[in-house]
Amino acid sequence: MTNLADQPTSIALAVDGHDGPPRLARGGADDGIGFGPSPSGLPSSGRTAEQWRDDILDKLLYEVGRTTQTAAPQDWYQATAYAVRDQIVDGWVGSRTRTYDEGRKRVYYFSVEFLIGRLLTDSLCNMGATAAVRQALNTLGVSLDSISELEPDAALGNGGLGRLAACFMESLASLSTPAYGYGIRYEQGLFKQALVDGWQRELPEDWLSLGNPWEFKRPDVAYPICFGGVVEHIGGDGDKGRAVWHPAERAVAIAHDTPVPGWRGRHVNTLRLWSARSLDPMQLEAFNRGDFVGALADRAKIEAISRVLYPNDETEAGQELRLRQEFFFTSASLQDLTRRHLTQYKDFASLPDYCAIQLNDTHPSIAVAELMRLLIDEHGMAWDEAWSITTRTLNYTNHTLMPEALESWSVELLGRVLPRHLEIIYQINWEHLRRIAEHGPTTDARNAALSLIDEQHGRRVRMGHLAFLGAHRVNGVSALHTELMRQTVFKELNEVYPGKIVNKTNGITFRRWLFEANPRLTALLVETIGPAFLDDPMRLVEAAPFATDPVFVERYARCRRENKISLGRIIRDRCGIATDPASLFDVQIKRIHEYKRQLLNVLETVALYQAIKDDPGQSFAPRVKIFAGKSAASYVRAKLIIKLANDVGHRIDADPAVRDRLKLVFLPNYNVSLAEDIVPAADLSEQISTAGMEASGTGNMKLGLNGAITIGTLDGANVEMRTNVGEENIVIFGLTTPEVQAKRAAGITGAEVVAGSPRLARVIEALKAGEFSPDDKQRFAPLLDAILGADPFMVCADFDSYWEAQRRVDALWADPAAWWRVSILNTAHMGWFSSDRTIREYCAEIWGAPTD
Ligand SMILES: *Cc1c(COP(=O)(O)O)cnc(C)c1O
Repeated sequence: MTNLADQPTSIALAVDGHDGPPRLARGGADDGIGFGPSPSGLPSSGRTAEQWRDDILDKLLYEVGRTTQTAAPQDWYQATAYAVRDQIVDGWVGSRTRTYDEGRKRVYYFSVEFLIGRLLTDSLCNMGATAAVRQALNTLGVSLDSISELEPDAALGNGGLGRLAACFMESLASLSTPAYGYGIRYEQGLFKQALVDGWQRELPEDWLSLGNPWEFKRPDVAYPICFGGVVEHIGGDGDKGRAVWHPAERAVAIAHDTPVPGWRGRHVNTLRLWSARSLDPMQLEAFNRGDFVGALADRAKIEAISRVLYPNDETEAGQELRLRQEFFFTSASLQDLTRRHLTQYKDFASLPDYCAIQLNDTHPSIAVAELMRLLIDEHGMAWDEAWSITTRTLNYTNHTLMPEALESWSVELLGRVLPRHLEIIYQINWEHLRRIAEHGPTTDARNAALSLIDEQHGRRVRMGHLAFLGAHRVNGVSALHTELMRQTVFKELNEVYPGKIVNKTNGITFRRWLFEANPRLTALLVETIGPAFLDDPMRLVEAAPFATDPVFVERYARCRRENKISLGRIIRDRCGIATDPASLFDVQIKRIHEYKRQLLNVLETVALYQAIKDDPGQSFAPRVKIFAGKSAASYVRAKLIIKLANDVGHRIDADPAVRDRLKLVFLPNYNVSLAEDIVPAADLSEQISTAGMEASGTGNMKLGLNGAITIGTLDGANVEMRTNVGEENIVIFGLTTPEVQAKRAAGITGAEVVAGSPRLARVIEALKAGEFSPDDKQRFAPLLDAILGADPFMVCADFDSYWEAQRRVDALWADPAAWWRVSILNTAHMGWFSSDRTIREYCAEIWGAPTD
């Protein structure tokens, strides 16, 4: 602890001069850049290759400090990125000017994760500069594709939740909605996954080691973030008195800004990520004279806040550092946006009119208490007015119903780290329960379910409940998930606040997931139906009539084949396995989790292996099963599933009787860039979670857009995909959500199911006998025990239905005209899953924010 406790918390470390009325825009923001067509079918800006060449050479010399003679590929990447960034900055300044001058409402997206991937190809695409920059580099003897590969992924997220935040940022910019993304600038993103003898190993990730040409450090945009200490009440409790927080620790949040250009470069928003610094070293020295070592230890503790991303997915981290991270970025962001608002509008009463805050899951839900604290303690507002402003500004997105993922903090920990916030939470709870009591009779059980404090598990604060109460709107991320929210986690709260819960089905940005990831298909579509779909994704439906046009079908199939050959090279390089592009590429890429049921897919692979060996005459489609995904480092069963997939893959590959008809490859280190390589090459998309457990999924949309046929359960957004593409164009199997609930209630074990399924029984026998792990026959016993027992994820219960659905896939594959018709209709009917549609809905129905 430092002895800074006696400083008041309101000390302003610095004031940001950047967001006042910005000037100096060289180009207009929203007047377009004179886009025309280019050979790729994508629009291109007016800048010529010669202009880009001059810019890149200029940056190479003056920013990177190299000449064409001394430049390494990495230097060319940096120089190109800086040249592109300059063009983005012009639009950035213009966009801020317009927002300010026109008094446009701003959206603030709070997310502890942003899973961005690479930015060079994305920026070039949106700026309409890909072709010209490629040409400029060619004249310098440099390949755009090879330098793009040098950019490390910004992997500041685990999976779907973080990727959603990145898609939303891109769509917000493309729709010209003024927006800031707020998060943490982790020095180390998600770990790199290596496979050592089929086991996952986590390696540190250091995306910043060669610098980050996209970001602007803003040392002058800094806010104090306080922790611990005590609260003093002056002049009585409640509105009568005043609370003064005397914190024990004080960190500083420093802003790093990355411009986010939208489609056609018309509008540019800001992703503002905070990094943690301790107070000025000189001050530290003054305050800690005589305790140099102690001062450095305090400093390390503070700077740890932005050191590393928690690698958990769908499970709560539950540790003090995580709470500190969550509060750190939430508090910095709220201080930043309230300061911006006050500078422009002078008064907090209008905050909800000009600011909409979205909390991406509960991770930033401490915002409810922090905004109240800022308004009451720092700005002297009365409780009721502060509550009215807070609950008209904040909104909350729920991403999971799984109990192990619902965040809660023990009262002890929260009180120790954020004593003032715990008081405010108690007060919110008191007012909340009092209002309920006023509205008629209630019971203890109902009050217990409604309370912010969970008394069953040793007094914990339910962060989902806090976010619900503090929010204007609470949304789920697919129709099914939203309905289940109403029936389960928020059942009682929904009864008290009917209408607060709304649905906003997730989407993906087509710029990254079609135009950039699949240039071959994009060019074919532009040529066939014209470029209108580039701006209006619903117009993809114009491709539907071509699903039976033999010439189009042939060209569509050729794109896929070429994409499969490209992926085949990656598989050969990374897994040492040769693949035939004539095989069905059957893809399951996502985090490894029991509810996502990679195990079901591997068991079906084993059954298929056995069936081919039994009777080589049977006409199964030749398949390559492609897996990729990371497991949380501490998730033992998920790591064992990775090992099983690898063991099964090796066994099949060692069997000459089968290996030309069936393969299983596990590509290491799944991330956004690898997804961009796999998605355009997929024939079949595995979306096979236990019904009721996948909130939405977005991988399903990426794959469907690129024409993979979905084999899936009626879960998450699969349900809406079925509606959009038509039942005949999706392969649905398995228990429905109510059937899963009924099965659970009936308490049927996996072993009982296996007794009635000879095919599954044989698979289980082979695993038990150690056929795939002769070196350790017991290796997979923990996986078998789980599914033969209560089988919470219904792996056994859904096995036969899944097998049968895969045989329907085989039959479809055997009829190429039918296969390609279904595939093309998937592409044609995915327009609704554009994140532009999702963001328009948020703007209209939650934020009241402008588009265009
Ligand atoms: C899209 C995406 C996800 C989410 O995939 P789901 O199949 O929806 O779970 C996770 N990780 C990466 C890298 C992605 O691109």
